[in-house]
Amino acid sequence: MSMVARKVNLLGFAEHRDEGERMLAAPGDAVVIQRGALRSVLMRCPDGCGETLVVNLDPRVGKSWRLDMRTDKPTLYPSVWRDGGCGSHFIIWRGQLLWCDRFEEGNVEPNFDLVALGRRVLKSLRRRELRSAEEIAADLDEITWEVSRAGQMLVRRKLALCGSGRQRDWFALA
Ligand SMILES: [Zn+2]
Repeated sequence: MSMVARKVNLLGFAEHRDEGERMLAAPGDAVVIQRGALRSVLMRCPDGCGETLVVNLDPRVGKSWRLDMRTDKPTLYPSVWRDGGCGSHFIIWRGQLLWCDRFEEGNVEPNFDLVALGRRVLKSLRRRELRSAEEIAADLDEITWEVSRAGQMLVRRKLALCGSGRQRDWFALA
């Protein structure tokens, strides 16, 4: 399994899917499809199975992901989960590809200033009202994965509380 990708290799932009598809070669290769608006991310499946994944970015045509391109590195939110076939499930965060189940052992999280972000997240929390990491990230113009990590750090330090189950990434002041 030496072909498993740990990073996304963003090759550029294309207007149409067939054009983008021709650019993909290795696992983790990706192309953003943009015609006016952002349409999708095409990606050669990072587990090496050879399939092409299509991640929708257009909220007008159903369930969509958010693409963040700060520092020229792609972040997608939420995680990408292939229902059929190989079942790949992973996170894309500042160009790093973090596996959610298989291959998780070699995950490498990107660097960011957890302490500084923790201070800003703490200021945005309310008492007795859980707020989602996604909502806090939108308010602060930050990456949701990083707000989630900062929230978890505040919980460990007993400065914040988090929800459970589906609201595990929701936070309130302790
Ligand atoms: Zn696959």
